[in-house]
Amino acid sequence: MRVLLLGGTTEGAALARALAGNSRVRARLSLAGATRAPRPQPLPTRIGGFGGVAGLVEYLRAECIGAVVDATHPFAAQMTRHAAEAAGRCGLPLLRVDRPAWLPQPGDNWAEFPDMTSLAAALGAAPRRVLLTVGQKELAPFRAAPWHHYVIRSVDPPAADVLPPDAEVLTATGPFALEDERALLRRHRIGLLVTKNSGGAATAAKLTAAREMGLPVRLLARPPAPEGLARVPDVAGALGWLHALLAERGV
Ligand code: NAP
Repeated sequence: MRVLLLGGTTEGAALARALAGNSRVRARLSLAGATRAPRPQPLPTRIGGFGGVAGLVEYLRAECIGAVVDATHPFAAQMTRHAAEAAGRCGLPLLRVDRPAWLPQPGDNWAEFPDMTSLAAALGAAPRRVLLTVGQKELAPFRAAPWHHYVIRSVDPPAADVLPPDAEVLTATGPFALEDERALLRRHRIGLLVTKNSGGAATAAKLTAAREMGLPVRLLARPPAPEGLARVPDVAGALGWLHALLAERGV
């Protein structure tokens, strides 16, 4: 059975490793092309958008895809919507791998915001030293609060036109260890952490470090996901779903 795996995440990479060499599944990984040098994956990989829902429908038909696994990031809401619509139009089974959101623990000082503009405004009038781990697409709203000092951690260097004026850029790719996150917060004298509620273990250590140091955390809330999708929280669940599908199809 041919499977399209929409990736760009830890789960996508883990599924690619798990499906490589599986004789019953011919999986192909799809990446958006958002990072300049994605880590090589052990599956045939295509890179770049499909050209909206119509392009994805065309691709699914041309490649005789039998099932789609959407392991894109929780904030890749457009791709998830497109996958749902295209799989629906083609009558294909679709699974969403939806890692659970992070939840506050005792001792946390968290506030969630529905959009980055309101979050940036809520940083307040007093200058602060802010660690931003939000991705390049979400940086521009902080230009409206230029009196803060921003330490921006990003996989690739962001374009200059999205950066707030007082910004320091650190390029790094997770996973991040707790001791390194503690050291980062101390070294840069961070007073507040801003992140998306991405969930997952790979980038959770910063939240533990912030809790230990009593730092406030401001999070962008998850975008709503399309209703009625089959979903699992992790890679094991996705493999279980695929095996059940193969058995049902007699593959
Ligand atoms: P998005 O806003 O939902 O998608 C924008 C467009 O990018 C989609 O309409 C699609 O273009 C293309 N696209 C997205 N994911 C794709 C994939 N896996 N394969 C082929 N095309 C894809 O997505 P995004 O938030 O920009 O994320 C882009 C990629 O980065 C995703 O693969 C996601 O898993 C990964 N990522 C995102 C975040 C985040 O915070 N958003 C964090 C880590 C990793 P067409 O309409 O032309 O098909």
